[in-house]
Amino acid sequence: MHRTIRRLMVAVAHGDDETLGAGGTLARLADEGVRIGLCVLTDDDGSRSAPGSGHGVTSRRSAVEQAAKILGIERVSVHSFGDNRLDTVSQLELNRVFEREFREFGPDTVLTTSLSDLNYDHRLVSRCVRVAARPGKGTVREIRCFEVRSATDVGEASGLPVFSPQIWQPLEPVHLERKLEALRAYGDEVQEWPSPRSERGTRALAEYRGSQVSVPLAEAFELVRAVL
Ligand SMILES: [Zn+2]
Repeated sequence: MHRTIRRLMVAVAHGDDETLGAGGTLARLADEGVRIGLCVLTDDDGSRSAPGSGHGVTSRRSAVEQAAKILGIERVSVHSFGDNRLDTVSQLELNRVFEREFREFGPDTVLTTSLSDLNYDHRLVSRCVRVAARPGKGTVREIRCFEVRSATDVGEASGLPVFSPQIWQPLEPVHLERKLEALRAYGDEVQEWPSPRSERGTRALAEYRGSQVSVPLAEAFELVRAVL
């Protein structure tokens, strides 16, 4: 049985998670007429910005907006929780942020980070999304998790559950190119090969995920819950 996605929300801790994890899928679905919203919890680049300069906040926000535009995301909300300091915020508060976002945008499907990621913020967001979109609460009928290179890679080698996709979204080359263009909006976050976050690393993952299901390019997702 097949359920059509009409409104999709991406819920992440950091601007760039959405692009690394699902940029090609977002570009493809936006082209197909799916309405897409993005909710980012943090608005700075944490360790890399000078304290008090404000520079990191401005550049990170504008990078998120630029990447969203490239991918066809129509609604962007960036919150001001600190990067890698989400452990100082109560889970209840974050649950409420997502509940409010889901109420306002009315997504039928939510994409988020995986419980397999070594990054604590990613796992926290994944848990909060499950709570905020629990059955009987709001419009969400399906939750999927994507992989974020380096966070998911290192998680597998650190005793966390292995990222185990059940859904593959085939991509055309144009969708992968839009993903790479959106990634470039994040400047320093794109690293040189052989970093997993290099352009070549991103292409290599799309080819690997594609070849798992005999298509040239794909992104892969874990299914958390689907109500048909
Ligand atoms: Zn992240």
